[in-house]
Amino acid sequence: MPIHLTAPEAAPGGPDGKGWNRLSLNAHFGQAAQCALRPQRWAALLESQDTRRARWGGFGPCVNGGKCDACPLLAALHDQCTVVPFNAPRVLVRVEPVYPPDAMFAGPAGWRLWPTLGPDDRDYRDRRPWSWEDVVRVHGWEVGRAYVDEHGDGFWLERTTRVPAVGVSIRSKARASFTRHSFAVASTGVAMLHCGGGACTHDEELLNAISHACPGPDGADEERVPVRWWQDIQLAPEPVGAYRFAAAVSPYSVRIVARDRELREWGRLTLTGSGWTTERVLAAGGALRAHLAGPAS
Ligand SMILES: [Zn+2]
Ligand SMILES: [Zn+2]
Ligand SMILES: [Zn+2]
Repeated sequence: MPIHLTAPEAAPGGPDGKGWNRLSLNAHFGQAAQCALRPQRWAALLESQDTRRARWGGFGPCVNGGKCDACPLLAALHDQCTVVPFNAPRVLVRVEPVYPPDAMFAGPAGWRLWPTLGPDDRDYRDRRPWSWEDVVRVHGWEVGRAYVDEHGDGFWLERTTRVPAVGVSIRSKARASFTRHSFAVASTGVAMLHCGGGACTHDEELLNAISHACPGPDGADEERVPVRWWQDIQLAPEPVGAYRFAAAVSPYSVRIVARDRELREWGRLTLTGSGWTTERVLAAGGALRAHLAGPAS
């Protein structure tokens, strides 16, 4: 993975094609090589996701004298994963430049990046801010669009099924004839996936996707489910490929069964607790359906 970015000869258009201004010329021309793991703005962060695309310009200087195989940031990329502290499908990261007290013309001395739940989340300063290097080490979230409002710049991170939901613990128990995956929130079981027919044919991503649908601690309990028996048809996912689904609501659980063409049960998802709103049940069933639909082509 190329992470060492050498400065270009005086490129007329500037590294981002937007042209140099005097300040950036002074700041960058003839400057040191940069490290593709040290983005300092959103566009560079996007490039850092696949460092083959990264070009000198938006990054911090190389910290290892050009010996990138031993770059401490490269080691940290795999060993020190940054955890997004929210159970949410997307988070807004606000980018706050930090200026030294006497700097009138120089660029920012650093940045604080604040993970937030969205534009209306105002309490973010109580949390620990990230550095740009911290964001590079977020695994399983994709860098989304840039964002601007009256409070400043930011960008979105979008959760993928490569990570489970924060706060949902997933345990799997394999038996000779079936495997059972249980999902717990605040030590309370909220869901169970029962896979028939011996070894599981799915990977972690299905379990992660189901965890994204699970309720938070408020809905993790042994109360009645908030959906009703007459929603059975509405709650069953649409058929996909060789698979058919049926949903059955009882007072304390919702069960979604997936069967193949021969009506063999592929898997059975049981959801319990007062957190299983219509929306969440549809999301859990949707996760099962998306998995059985196979990789999106
Ligand atoms: Zn480096
Ligand atoms: Zn380097
Ligand atoms: Zn399984």
